[in-house]
Amino acid sequence: MRERGTPDGLGFVRNALVRSELETDPDDHLRRVRQPGGLAVALAGELVLLAGPEEAGTGLLPVESLALTPDATLVALGSLDGRPVAATQTGEGAAEGALAGRGFRAVDLRTIAVSGLVPADELGILAQAKSLLSWHARHGFCAHCGAGTVPSAGGLRRDCTRCGTQHFPRTDPVAIMLVARGDLCLLGRQRRFVAGSYSCLAGFISPGETLEDAVRREVKEEAGITVGAVGYVVSQPWPFPSSLMIGCRAEALDDVIRRDETELEDARWFGRAEVRLMLERRHPDGLITPPPMAIANYLLRDWLGLVS
Ligand SMILES: [Zn+2]
Repeated sequence: MRERGTPDGLGFVRNALVRSELETDPDDHLRRVRQPGGLAVALAGELVLLAGPEEAGTGLLPVESLALTPDATLVALGSLDGRPVAATQTGEGAAEGALAGRGFRAVDLRTIAVSGLVPADELGILAQAKSLLSWHARHGFCAHCGAGTVPSAGGLRRDCTRCGTQHFPRTDPVAIMLVARGDLCLLGRQRRFVAGSYSCLAGFISPGETLEDAVRREVKEEAGITVGAVGYVVSQPWPFPSSLMIGCRAEALDDVIRRDETELEDARWFGRAEVRLMLERRHPDGLITPPPMAIANYLLRDWLGLVS
């Protein structure tokens, strides 16, 4: 519907890697990663290892600095300026301690995104690495026959050792929507949110469901509001562990909220001026929106006409 360049400020949407060469020979890609010039994103448990100064770090580490063992898990990611890049998983304990001695620090990916600890076009690479490594960690057994699976094709899939079924990484689509009615928009908060934070409603898209119907169903279930027109705005990889957030604008056809009390602690209508104060962290009651790296923040800025 609307076309724009890379959405300003949104986290994980910029990825500088070229992935096309992986289609031809991903195993050769991994061989080249282990040679001088190869780069790797390394996770210690759920944390990403960063090198460089505190405010201008990088998660793209020279492979020789990681001292990988021959049996280390490597997953092909793509090429950066001709240099092959892979992802690797180190242990949470001993490996992390050893790497810390080499000048790395381990940081969770949300903090990296919120605080801008790496360049914006690197965030997408870190998201790609985290989602793929998480998928490998959770898919050691074949969903068809129950036997063990092993990485194949440079880590781009896993093959069953008994029945040969090929398993591919999955991405789970989530609809997230700015529901508007005239000059008001609908925001809610879950109990787990930080104090005062209100966000757009969201939910997983069900099998056999369109994006538009998922938006209408979620808004009806969570807030009792009927939605008419739905339009796509922007999408965002969300590597916790492997979602694609699909941001929409939705038109409310009524305004009486009937909240699902198990899902939402509160839900209400907000005016444009109030939302602007929340975005700017100047609301008199301390109400806030999610940070600029989050897609809900982008949808609100888009609704206010603040996105160029
Ligand atoms: Zn099998």
